[in-house]
Amino acid sequence: MPNQTPSAPKGAVEPPFSLSDFLSSFMLLEFFKGFALTGKYAFRSKITQEYPEEKTPLSPRFRGLHALRRYDNGEERCIACKLCEAVCPAMAITIESEVREDGSRRTTRYDIDLTKCIFCGFCEESCPVDSIVETHILEYHGEKRGDLYFTKEMLLAVGDRFERDIASSRAADAKYR
Ligand code: SF4
Ligand code: SF4
Repeated sequence: MPNQTPSAPKGAVEPPFSLSDFLSSFMLLEFFKGFALTGKYAFRSKITQEYPEEKTPLSPRFRGLHALRRYDNGEERCIACKLCEAVCPAMAITIESEVREDGSRRTTRYDIDLTKCIFCGFCEESCPVDSIVETHILEYHGEKRGDLYFTKEMLLAVGDRFERDIASSRAADAKYR
């Protein structure tokens, strides 16, 4: 004969709650417990930040929006070695290059598709001339397809605008590299 779980006799009414539940509810114990917890933390210093008015500190290694850098004389740092393109696990970087009349090699196209990018930082680490870097810029967005496709001109513009911040972050991190 199969095992059967004993059940209450037909027609029997189970008590809705125990005596301790009843006393707990009657004396509003849960309410006072919650009230005591609120009181405990009400006058402590706050650990939450009112973002975006308040910003949290960022590490010099923070990996945000990409930028291409120039030397002080305005020349692009990038020598089109394509190491960053080769190392990118997301295949987000596309580079085309040409050799100039003076024999130096430079990119004619340097695009990053930020919808593919996983912000691993490999491109930055692989670059022999500190050209492609990731900045502290994290508040950016795109509203339609293509908005996050950054061309060489856009990346150079980011680098030009934030060079001081980029250089100070690199200097702060230099001794750990
Ligand atoms: S951060 Fe990583 S995924 Fe993004 S472009 Fe650089 S190498 Fe590619
Ligand atoms: S950004 Fe750096 S790693 Fe990438 S192609 Fe230019 S020089 Fe090479």
